[in-house]
Amino acid sequence: MRLTTTKKELFDAIPRGFSVGFVPTMGALHSGHASLMKQARQENELLVASIFVNPLQFEALGDCDDYRHYPRDLDADIPLLEECGVDIVFAPSVAEMYPNDLPLVWVRTGAMGEKLEGASRPGHFDGVATVVSKLFNLVRPDRAYFGQKDAQQVAVIRRLVADLDIPVEIRAVPIIRGADGLAESSRNQRLSPTERTQALVLPRVLEKLKARAITIDAARAELATAPGVKLDHLEAVDPATLEPLAELTTPALVVAAIYVGPVRLIDNIEITT
Ligand code: AMP
Repeated sequence: MRLTTTKKELFDAIPRGFSVGFVPTMGALHSGHASLMKQARQENELLVASIFVNPLQFEALGDCDDYRHYPRDLDADIPLLEECGVDIVFAPSVAEMYPNDLPLVWVRTGAMGEKLEGASRPGHFDGVATVVSKLFNLVRPDRAYFGQKDAQQVAVIRRLVADLDIPVEIRAVPIIRGADGLAESSRNQRLSPTERTQALVLPRVLEKLKARAITIDAARAELATAPGVKLDHLEAVDPATLEPLAELTTPALVVAAIYVGPVRLIDNIEITT
């Protein structure tokens, strides 16, 4: 495995003429990231992963606790990258990615990026779309892999490549969960054992919705009254456009975000029947 930290090193490290799979991450790698890399490993001759905590997609362009406290430990991530068969890792500094200070020109995601997660995190999806566009230009992958865990991100990236004619195939990979049902997330590290138990109401409620055992309103009420939990949103939307659905018609994507202690957690479920 080759570790690169500059754009030039990355460019020189990627031999041309091979199919390239790409997995962008922010590090603090766990089994969710591994699942993306394993699928990408199977489907491509070369596997490139990036680790970059992108200030553009955080509140106040990174001048916030979430960005400052985001777990960063490249040495701890190396074994998992090796185990997944990654050929090239790109782990640039902020100065390397944004040498002219922050970009003047951004990718704008508009209404699609302003709803749901974007309503609580203004500018987040513009920051994601901008850095992902830069990474696509640097890596020039044939296929790029994103987790269904971030369902709105998948929908936004699909429209990014369609609307800007970026020649890359977007592959969505199913959510990986812990044995207790909580979706794996780097932010889970910041939950106390009690908070983790409290957070389990989120996957439980989504499962009940999938089984059509409760209504959307009942699901919202359950999350709103769960101990230690603050409900941000729970919505049924069209999976491709993210437009709200008046009723739970299929196919539907139910997306939800809650706060547990200091941590914002997201989860979602696809309902097809
Ligand atoms: P992050 O490092 O949080 O930006 O995540 C990098 C990629 O891994 C994104 O495409 C995420 O959607 C994906 N990912 C994170 N957690 C999971 C999970 N539990 N299951 C599947 N994919 C995930």
